[in-house]
Amino acid sequence: MNAFTAPILLYHSVCPDRDFRASARLNLTPEGFRAHLAHLKRRLSIVSLERALAAPSAVRPRAVAVTFDDGYGDTFRWAWPILRATRTPATVFLTVSQVGREWETPRGRYPGISWAEAAEMGRDPLVEFGSHGLSHRNLPALAPGEAAREIALSKALLEEKLGRAVRYFSYPHGAWNAANKAAVAAAGYQAAFSVISRNEDRFSLRRVLVSRYDGVFRLRLKLSPLYWPLRRLW
Ligand SMILES: [Zn+2]
Repeated sequence: MNAFTAPILLYHSVCPDRDFRASARLNLTPEGFRAHLAHLKRRLSIVSLERALAAPSAVRPRAVAVTFDDGYGDTFRWAWPILRATRTPATVFLTVSQVGREWETPRGRYPGISWAEAAEMGRDPLVEFGSHGLSHRNLPALAPGEAAREIALSKALLEEKLGRAVRYFSYPHGAWNAANKAAVAAAGYQAAFSVISRNEDRFSLRRVLVSRYDGVFRLRLKLSPLYWPLRRLW
């Protein structure tokens, strides 16, 4: 069990298979995503990241939070209508340089979300945006000053473009080091998220990576208190 938060799910992409051109492993079909949310809502309450971070430990096992990384156009086109219809809170981590641009992927080009789409989603109080950096580069591989710029400038640009406070950071590729963590704190973020992580504090929080192979049974396993101890054995 995550010592600091309720479990936090990490999604990347939701769209029909025929449309998909990014990492196939990380895409869920709309039907698959809808089934996940329905399953989660039957057993748990889906809460905002703020609530997941604030919930006292006694209620954490009953709560779960939903996040999206990268900021693909399909987050707006396919995931958001489902989130909106089911009144599900979600945090979307945007990669600033890719907003309004296509991602280059091994399977071809794939559209990023546009600023207009992000603004439309952002009018829903259940949607929050976080930063996934300026350029999706691996921060520990950069000079510390360059990494700090990715962290601080992405926050400033998103706040300027979206007119809302950006409180959370998601490390591109889940990768961070001590200097990156310090830069996140210095930039004024309240928390930062990785994938598999040591979960030392609020700036190194882990999330459960969801893949297309996660049916509701595997999703349930990944949310169980046994998941992280077992994960270490894999
Ligand atoms: Zn990413």
